[in-house]
This record gives sequence, C-alpha cells and structure tokens, in this order.
Amino acid sequence: MDQNSSPGAIDGISEPCFSFGVISDIQYADLEDGYNFVGTRMRYYRYSLHHLQGAIEEWNEESNHLFFVLQLGDIIDGFNAQYKVSEESLQNVLKEFEKLKAPVHHTWGNHEFYNFSRDYLRNSKLNTKFLGDQIAHCPETTPSENYYTYHFVPFPKFRFILLDAYDLSVLGMDQSSPKYQDCMKMLKEKNPNKELNNPQGLSEPRFVQYNGGFSQDQLDWFNAVLTFSDTNQEKVVVVGHVPIHPDASDDTCLAWNYRDALSIIWSHKCVVCFLAGHSHDGGYCIDTHGVHHITLEGVIETPPESQAFGTVHVYPDKMVLKGRGRVPDRIMYYKKD
Ligand SMILES: [Zn+2]
Repeated sequence: MDQNSSPGAIDGISEPCFSFGVISDIQYADLEDGYNFVGTRMRYYRYSLHHLQGAIEEWNEESNHLFFVLQLGDIIDGFNAQYKVSEESLQNVLKEFEKLKAPVHHTWGNHEFYNFSRDYLRNSKLNTKFLGDQIAHCPETTPSENYYTYHFVPFPKFRFILLDAYDLSVLGMDQSSPKYQDCMKMLKEKNPNKELNNPQGLSEPRFVQYNGGFSQDQLDWFNAVLTFSDTNQEKVVVVGHVPIHPDASDDTCLAWNYRDALSIIWSHKCVVCFLAGHSHDGGYCIDTHGVHHITLEGVIETPPESQAFGTVHVYPDKMVLKGRGRVPDRIMYYKKD
C-alpha cells in the first residue's frame, strides 16, 4: 500500500497490524420510514440496505488491511416477521454481504430472535462459528452448543471473543423449556409492567424483554478463554450485541447481568475493548480498569445523507476507530500492565 494512503499515515505513525470493519443494527425491512417505539427517532427501514452497500464499497477499497467485518446484530427488523418476509429480507441483506471481500462475523441480537428461532439461526448463514479458533490443549475454551459464542485470532496475540447476550432471554426459546421458564420468572420479578418491553417505573430499567444476559455456563467459558489469553499475553476484544457498561449506553439497553460480565473482564488483564450495538444513539467510555467500551450508532436510525459504520485500525499500543457519518473517530490506547 502507498505510504501516503495508509491509515497509519493519518497520525504520522507506522501501518497497523491489521484492520477490521464494524457495523450494527441494520434492521432492514422493505417498509416506509417510521418512528421507533417511543416516537422519538426516525427509522429508515428500506434505506438501511443502501447504507450497508455504501459501507461494503468503502471496506472493499480498504481490503489490503481489512481482515474481517463484525456485524454487531439486529441485521433485519422484527417487522419482517409480522409480514412473513423474514427469510426474504435476510437473503437481501446477506446478498450484499457476499460482495464483501473480507469474511464477516455475525452477532445475534433481539431482532434475530423476533424473526427466527435459535435452532433456525444455528443452521443459517448468520452462524459464523466455523470462523472460530480451536485451542486443542485447552478444552475448556471450546464453547457449548447451548449458546452462540466463539473466539478467533486474526493476528498473533490479538483474540476476539463473541458473546451471546441472549443466552438468558425469553426470546427465540422453546417456551416449554425450563430455561425459558427461569428467564421469564427472573424478568417478571424485576419488571411488574404488563408490557415486558416497558421499562417505566423500574429501579433497574434494563430488565425488559428486548435485553438479555449471560448464563453462568457461558461466563465460566468466557473466564476460561480470558485465562488462556492472559497466560498467552494476548490483547482481547470482546463483542456482543448488548452493551455492558452504563456509561456507554442508555440504561434501558444494558445486559441484565452486565455486572457479572464486567467483573470477569476486570479479573483479567487481557481485555482492551468491548464492542456492542443495540443502543442506537451509540456511546463510549473507558472504565475504571482501562477497558474501552464502544457502542456503535445504529444504521437503522441513520438518515440517507449520513452513514454509520467504521474501520478499526489495530496497532501494538492502541486501536484507532475511523468512524463514518454518525460514528465518531476514536483513539483507544491499551492500559499499561
Ligand atoms: Zn438490539
């Protein structure tokens, strides 16, 4: 690549180790624009596909450095289920992703579960577990089939972990299963409202149906991977649909047991960043342990004249997010040991 056009040249330093794309909450549907549930934000259901096309064109021009793209969940909108066009809409979006020269890792959000069952998703193109890494001598780092998680190493000493924020959830689950019943019980104890998507009056407004959480089994697995990464002196980026830090998200869009995920992250030194979507206005904070939390602005609430995606350039000492449109640029230094 030409020295002047390399991403590193922007801030006068060397080329990145690698780069990756990020995009969230495309929520495509072949529908007219409309307001969100509370009537405060316009949603551009049809135009979101054009936003994706634009992002893919720009990423393909960067393909020398671009190793992969993270799709942070809610790829199509729940309205597709009402109109019985879920499969058709998913095909339309995946057809665009096929034009991407780099592989894409898909995360599952609440809108995946409005449209499809967990079993359907497991057998669909939205399951990208095959791109995951195996650590043969460390069997506890192999994820269970009960939730959708995996980890991968795109570059030596950098590991990415995809978490399933709807492992504890009342969405996409067999309603006769004990797990569903336990989750419903937990949700109703925290949310006495008739409409379980309504956070009004709750002391913990994250306990709504459109959020979810992490089972102890998944947290144990997460802990095992981070233990391996610590020993191996890796830097880890954690990816999930739902944010886990209150300062990087609307308090109605947090994972139910976000504190459990945070305390595991804080008990290891390897995690440098947590990437989420779900809270469409986006957000950012650096927490008390030096971990960066980025919540990406949602494509669905992005007007046609703007954009909402980014490219993250990864260096040995920092990550540089080059945002487009509503997504701001950020330089994120790793914490010192
Ligand atoms: Zn969501």
